[in-house]
Amino acid sequence: MSLVKTTRDSGLKRRRFLVGAGVAAGAGALARQLPLNVIEPAVAADAVPGAAAVTEMKHTVCTHCSVGCSVEAIVSNGVWIRQEAAFDSPINMGAHCAKGASVREHGFGEHRLRYPMKLVGGKYQRISWDQAIDEIGDKLLQLRQQAGPDALMLIGSSKHNNEQAYLLRKWAAFWGSNNCDHQARICHSTTVAGVAQTFGYGAMTNSFNDLHHTKAVMFIGSNPAEAHPISMLHFLHAKELGAKMIVVDPRFTRTARFAHHFVRVRPGTDIPLVWGMLWHIFNNGWEDKEYIAARTYGMEDVRAEVAKWTPDKVSDVTGVPESSVRLAAEMLAKNKPSSVVWCMGITQHHVGTANVRALSILQLVLGNIGVPGGGANIYRGHDNVQGATDVGPNGDSLPGYYGIAEGAWKHFSAAWGVDYDWIKSRFGSKELMEKPGITVSRWFDAVNEQNQFIDQPSNLRAVFYWGHAPNSQTRLPDMKAAMQKLDMLVVVDPYPSMTAAMHGRTDGVYLLPAASQFETHGSCTASNRSIQWRERVIMPLFECKTDHEIMYLFAKKLGFHNELCKNIKVVRNEPVIEDILREINRSCWTIGYTGCSPERLKLHMENKHTFNPTTMRADDGPCKGDYYGLPWPCWGTPEMKHPGTPILYDISKSVAEGGLPFRANWGVEHNGVSLLAADGSTNKDSQLDTGYPEFDHIFLKKLGWWAELTPQEQALAEGKNWKTDSSGGIIRVVIAHGCAPWGNARARCNVWNFPDPVPVHREPLASPRRDLVAAYPTYDDKANFWRLPTLYKSVQAVDYSKDYPMIMTSGRLVEYEGGGEETRSNPWLAELQQNMFVELNPNDAAQINARTSDYVWVETPTGARMKMMAMVTERVPIGLVWMPFHFGGWWMGEDLERHYPEGGAPTVRGEACNTGWTYGYDAVTMMQETKVSLCRVVRA
Ligand code: SF4
Repeated sequence: MSLVKTTRDSGLKRRRFLVGAGVAAGAGALARQLPLNVIEPAVAADAVPGAAAVTEMKHTVCTHCSVGCSVEAIVSNGVWIRQEAAFDSPINMGAHCAKGASVREHGFGEHRLRYPMKLVGGKYQRISWDQAIDEIGDKLLQLRQQAGPDALMLIGSSKHNNEQAYLLRKWAAFWGSNNCDHQARICHSTTVAGVAQTFGYGAMTNSFNDLHHTKAVMFIGSNPAEAHPISMLHFLHAKELGAKMIVVDPRFTRTARFAHHFVRVRPGTDIPLVWGMLWHIFNNGWEDKEYIAARTYGMEDVRAEVAKWTPDKVSDVTGVPESSVRLAAEMLAKNKPSSVVWCMGITQHHVGTANVRALSILQLVLGNIGVPGGGANIYRGHDNVQGATDVGPNGDSLPGYYGIAEGAWKHFSAAWGVDYDWIKSRFGSKELMEKPGITVSRWFDAVNEQNQFIDQPSNLRAVFYWGHAPNSQTRLPDMKAAMQKLDMLVVVDPYPSMTAAMHGRTDGVYLLPAASQFETHGSCTASNRSIQWRERVIMPLFECKTDHEIMYLFAKKLGFHNELCKNIKVVRNEPVIEDILREINRSCWTIGYTGCSPERLKLHMENKHTFNPTTMRADDGPCKGDYYGLPWPCWGTPEMKHPGTPILYDISKSVAEGGLPFRANWGVEHNGVSLLAADGSTNKDSQLDTGYPEFDHIFLKKLGWWAELTPQEQALAEGKNWKTDSSGGIIRVVIAHGCAPWGNARARCNVWNFPDPVPVHREPLASPRRDLVAAYPTYDDKANFWRLPTLYKSVQAVDYSKDYPMIMTSGRLVEYEGGGEETRSNPWLAELQQNMFVELNPNDAAQINARTSDYVWVETPTGARMKMMAMVTERVPIGLVWMPFHFGGWWMGEDLERHYPEGGAPTVRGEACNTGWTYGYDAVTMMQETKVSLCRVVRA
């Protein structure tokens, strides 16, 4: 398994380039104007005598996973010469995983896109930016004329910083479509829906650091030793202090290796397992009765469902021995506070939202939500999945989770300084303006499907892939067919991504070189809701442009740049990042993105050494009293100096100090039962000693607090609630009285507006247990869901298990990230993991006479065949195979290298396991199914 030759060759070329860049530069700026053949051979290698090097340190953040590790970048005369560990970051304290330790490669990656390109007769040709913007813009205007604005799909990125993600959502609104989405759809949309509908906010409740306080953790569908390595350091610290560790996974992962108790579960049976644990908890009286009585709604409905899951039944369905389920329950219940951590093993199922809710309920039963060392801790994937979800391109929401109903549009048209009717006129109709858009998980069905079955006037005819890997989505043969039907496919990315190679087209594809996050500045939100400020390390290389400049140039071509940047200064075609954040501060009251001004965030980054690595609080220094990165909600205006909210739903602190109750988002009662928290259950210092609804101008007047608003605030707050009052006065006054702007309610264990109000088990769509399908069937097919027909029962009705007897699942490797083009192009990482592989149990490998490193074909019911190396290991049980999902660049056995633009193919290429994934989508969010299906494996 060696690609050493390739990487050595690359190393030589890189060194030559570095010499040239160091001299010619001062610099990226000059290098950008040079044609490629001048940059590549490094002809300007002679040093300039006497030139004094200016060396400085830039504070930035790793752009890979969502832990948010700081990186100190040393820059000399504009060239990024080395990186150092940030020992003073309270998040990583000097530690990095392999990916973080090698981010400097971003600055000089040889495989990057260097200039705009266009596919002509099957070959990519260099074009200018002017030509690219003109041609693409003309095509968009023509499509708009012919088919309406909904013919375009914008696939944005969870690697945009917050400001870029926000600007892209605004861009989509001004173009006139909700067809915009990003990676969160396929990694944690089910988490957001599940926890938001249970507690109030769609985010991880505690922090990575807070695990120091825990006495037991259950990692379920989560492998942080590989996916979020630095987060493991915080937990291992707790383990040294005696914390217990449970790992639930079908595969014995590198995380499981540390566990006191490993639970090997059958994929797709998480709800029966959690209900099985609750069966023991309820039967032994281990639940927190006081907490349940004061702070939850609908627990009796949960008890009724749990009662059905007797130990024998749980064991039959999940494959977990009865004693093992009981031990997991006891360890979690008797070592409190205890935490639950989950990732894509839980979320990527057709019942993903229900899985998330079952785990949220487990933590409510144990009274673990809102306490240090407890929580529902959900580790996001990319560096800014959380922030892009909070304020970025989501098809069912405007920034800050405001939704897309008329009131939300009016709130934002006021914040944006544009007329509501003008925005409405940009859409095909008011109905389309208020209808959730196509999702990234299904965009290709909106191309391939017959028009009469799509709930919008036109099929999709053009797609922008903006910082998003196609090989992270399932059903790639269907995607390829759709790519071939499109009028135009545009890729905007620092790397060409597999999009550039897999489409099979000869024309109508554009590649636009985007700057990486190290070539711009702005804020990004780690998984724990801390918002960090990234300084610009180097100027954009080659002809790359920042995402926000590209957005502005297209807006200019399409005629809405003045509206897009009404309140935002534009300097040399770049909207000023700080101004964008200030607009977010003025508009996103719902999630408290209002107190985190650019000035406060910069101060935190400059003084990160003053924050305590356990509490995340600055006990001294210029940020005294703040929590690191002002974890949202950071209420009110920046002048209010709210410190951020380190632990969600913690009522032991006052709201002014970062406390919070559950949200009153669903009215005050349901079926005659109060949804508000019990009397006496309220935040420290609250002047209301009971549950209360969310605040608006009427409630404030009834309480006699209205007079505390200034006359200016009163003028703006009249007729408004805490989310739409642009003065911030309602929030200021409410918090001064010790209350939470969003009310004080109970967490919902019964979500009556979901397909399953209490989570129930539903067998996977491709289930090998046909005997269980009748007892635990999936949902009925839906004619119209996120604008598309969506299948459930008709897929499950077909029995594939005889021809495809192996269970198939997937996950992450420590070396690579997401679709992997950046990291597989990084020579340091490429040497560590050189081939795509499938893990096979020795017993299964023996059936086909395969040894480690032999090539095998993994074949799935879609007809897809994927060629990869066997890794024979007992990490997987008999009958189950596991594959990493970061690979790409092969197509059913064929290496696509020649289809990439010249020099743009990643160093390591391999079969994308999502090529073979079968049909399946979450019944609430359209999350794709990638954690359980069926396949067979044969020798190649
Ligand atoms: S990939 Fe994640 S854990 Fe590794 S250094 Fe980057 S942020 Fe930290």
